[in-house]
Amino acid sequence: MFSYWEKTHFFKYDLIVVGAGFVGLSTAIHYQVANPEATVLVLERGVFPSGASTKNAGFACFGSLTEILDDLTHMSKDEVLGLVERRYNGLKAIRKQFGDKRLGYSHFFGYELIDDRQLGALVRLSEINEFLYPVFQDDVFSLVQKPAAMGFSDQVKAVVKNKFEGELDPGRYMNSLWELAHRAGIRILTGVSVKELLREEGKVLAEGADQVHLEFKAKKIALCTNAFTKKLWTAPDLQPGRGLILLSKPLDFDIPWNGSFHLDRGYVYFRQLAGRLLLGGGRNIDLEGECSMDFSVNPKIKLHLEGLAREVIFPNRKMEWEMEWTGIMAFGKIKSPIIQQVDDKTAVAVRLGGMGVAIGWQVGKELSLVLSKM
Ligand SMILES: Cc1cc2nc3c(=O)[nH]c(=O)nc-3n(C[C@H](O)[C@H](O)[C@H](O)COP(=O)(O)OP(=O)(O)OC[C@H]3O[C@@H](n4cnc5c(N)ncnc54)[C@H](O)[C@@H]3O)c2cc1C
Repeated sequence: MFSYWEKTHFFKYDLIVVGAGFVGLSTAIHYQVANPEATVLVLERGVFPSGASTKNAGFACFGSLTEILDDLTHMSKDEVLGLVERRYNGLKAIRKQFGDKRLGYSHFFGYELIDDRQLGALVRLSEINEFLYPVFQDDVFSLVQKPAAMGFSDQVKAVVKNKFEGELDPGRYMNSLWELAHRAGIRILTGVSVKELLREEGKVLAEGADQVHLEFKAKKIALCTNAFTKKLWTAPDLQPGRGLILLSKPLDFDIPWNGSFHLDRGYVYFRQLAGRLLLGGGRNIDLEGECSMDFSVNPKIKLHLEGLAREVIFPNRKMEWEMEWTGIMAFGKIKSPIIQQVDDKTAVAVRLGGMGVAIGWQVGKELSLVLSKM
């Protein structure tokens, strides 16, 4: 039962954004800045954002050598270059907006471990540097001269360095978005799960704590629910994709490298985090099983990652695991997000895969432009 005051002041908005991940908050901020008089509400089902934005590895990346080569087998050159450019510009944009310190950004570079299966990629390294030149005006990839000093197993035949990649702290990035949203006057309600949209009427039906029924009204609605969108809108091509991360206990030896590492065509990634190993990915071990919105841990993938840590990353070293968690991304047949108007009042920005750190802010900007024109 709500009071007159609550009914009068808390339920009606110019824009309601569903989902408070990178995309939802970026959308709300860009829209509020472009429309200072508008009232903007963000609804998030979790106490904290509960999809991928605070569960990820924090790689500020745009594609490894083998990933770009793989993309070129099923996408046109223009599409691949466009994708890399969008991601790189996205990274530059968040660094400019929030600053490296606030993001916890470190420019330790990106690296890719090459085993026997990917040796062919090295022959094309110069060709890919030339291909990417219009975006970076410099060579992106180079071979690490003394890879043995990094201490990986001898399965690793070469290490490719990417001098334009870095890493950040997703929690700090989220804090920066929250602060900016609050300063802009955006209201964020968490623990509110949207159950249904009555789009023609601009009604957003939701459930709050103690299963209380909430009925919000908005002139415009933005759906930024990524992998969880199908419950509210039938997306044409969108599948959930779960990702697992393992974090070791502090290691009792010095780690002989720093940076964001990719292996197995980008499916596996690792970095160091305050003297620990953060290791994640491995969806390719069970692609079907990982097509899930359930946050549980796939034991097959966990075993695979633990094996890689033992046999490839730190051979002959002892280490113990302390934490594990999963997050859910969204994938489709093509790698770009869906950003579109759905009807008079509703627009969506969803299908963010493994590069949301790089493109989330920009995707929010694009969605806010769509909303402003509606
Ligand atoms: C394990 C893992 C590692 C990753 N590593 C990296 C990386 O290193 N670099 C990188 O660039 N990207 C990485 N990503 C991808 C990146 O995290 C995502 O692309 C990005 O976070 C997507 O942002 P989003 O806002 O679209 O989705 P989300 O962060 O999932 O936000 C959607 C929000 O909507 C909310 N929601 C859903 N349904 C409802 C509802 N009915 N009512 C109210 N709220 C709702 C959810 O709770 C969620 O908070 C990784 C992802 C995972 C899972």
